Amino acid sequence: MNRVIEISPAAAVDVGCTDAPVLKERGQREVFCGLTGIIWLHRKIQDAFFLVVGSRTCAHLLQSAAGVMIFAEPRFATAIIDERDLAGLADANAELDRVVTRLLERRPDIKLLFLVGSCPSEVIKLDLSRAAQRLSTTFAPAVRVLNYSGSGIETTFTQGEDACLASLVPEMANSQAPALMVVGALADVVEDQFKRLFDALDIGPVHFFPPRHAAELSAVGPNTRFLLAQPFLADTARMLEARGAERLAAPFPLGAEGTTAWLQAAATAFGVSATRFEEVIAPKRERAQLSLQRHRQVLQGKRVFFFPDSQLEVPLARFLSRELGMGLAEVGSPYLHRQHLAAELAWLPSGTLLSEGQDVERQLDRCRTSQPDIVVCGLGLANPLENEGFTTKWAIELVFTPIQGFDQAADLAELFTRPLTRRTKLLA
Ligand code: SF4
Repeated sequence: MNRVIEISPAAAVDVGCTDAPVLKERGQREVFCGLTGIIWLHRKIQDAFFLVVGSRTCAHLLQSAAGVMIFAEPRFATAIIDERDLAGLADANAELDRVVTRLLERRPDIKLLFLVGSCPSEVIKLDLSRAAQRLSTTFAPAVRVLNYSGSGIETTFTQGEDACLASLVPEMANSQAPALMVVGALADVVEDQFKRLFDALDIGPVHFFPPRHAAELSAVGPNTRFLLAQPFLADTARMLEARGAERLAAPFPLGAEGTTAWLQAAATAFGVSATRFEEVIAPKRERAQLSLQRHRQVLQGKRVFFFPDSQLEVPLARFLSRELGMGLAEVGSPYLHRQHLAAELAWLPSGTLLSEGQDVERQLDRCRTSQPDIVVCGLGLANPLENEGFTTKWAIELVFTPIQGFDQAADLAELFTRPLTRRTKLLA
């Protein structure tokens, strides 16, 4: 199969899952908690520190999610709530103040400190927002102290980023100046590529949120238009809209097609002519389409089953189905934000089984019945499923890897071809 995939805007309006019914499930779930977001956020905001107020379990989760990494100076840590705190025998607030003071005295490079709540801090009702206010007053103006919750109670792991970014919105200055804001943590290399494309299209000023440094936090106001780079930022988007900013409706920048439409939304809003857009975008898009051809040869006709995990499931399913010819056995997502996913749902083949939430045993039964070629799921399900003979892809890898934009389209496809090719070799 050596064909370049044609992008057909007409297909966006006449097919799809725009009004498709969704199987809603509420039962046992197999997902990581929001603390996981610290792993990519601490790399993004280079002068921030994330202090989890939690238990040894939280510390273990962070350590295992981060892998074995030795930093000259780490930028996350856990302040352990021990049994005495749980029993109310010690003043947890005084202890927290002591820990933060010690940390900030030792680390003058920290400009932004997040106190990150956890299940234990919520259970003992430790008020981290008051603690953040108190500590902000003490350490202003050198350090801003904010708080958000990464607790695993009723959340999934990408919501940690949403909560973190939402905590930053009130810190943004007001601005009346027109600007574009790209919302959602992207790898620096991806951000730089998008910046070059926006510059070539004469769209600007462009601000990326979160910023690389605390002092670069962009301003916001009624003339700010924003593009979501990630589909899991419902609270952040709501808070930006409350500040007057306007969300540009678009699919997410995954694959040649998604990236084109995402950039097109900005180009339309900033009055870029169709000719100029084509001049700048066409060479990039065509190169991305060509790079996908060899992956299409492997993936075309194969079927993928998504367990709910990262909230990236719907855009990924759209990319795999439209640009790589895969069949969709089930597209499960922890939360389906119909408004933010509207363009994506319209691009899914009609009749796709969409599910929201999880009842893991029932979903495993559906997966076994469906016998997909590849399963996208969390770490907890991947090993047992591999043991049953399924090929799996860890959902969390899709969040850690740079996958957005034209230059990453083939890398994204490769995340799916690699496990299938490995399985074929093992069986040979
Ligand atoms: S925040 Fe809750 S779910 Fe996450 S590691 Fe800590 S105890 Fe576990």
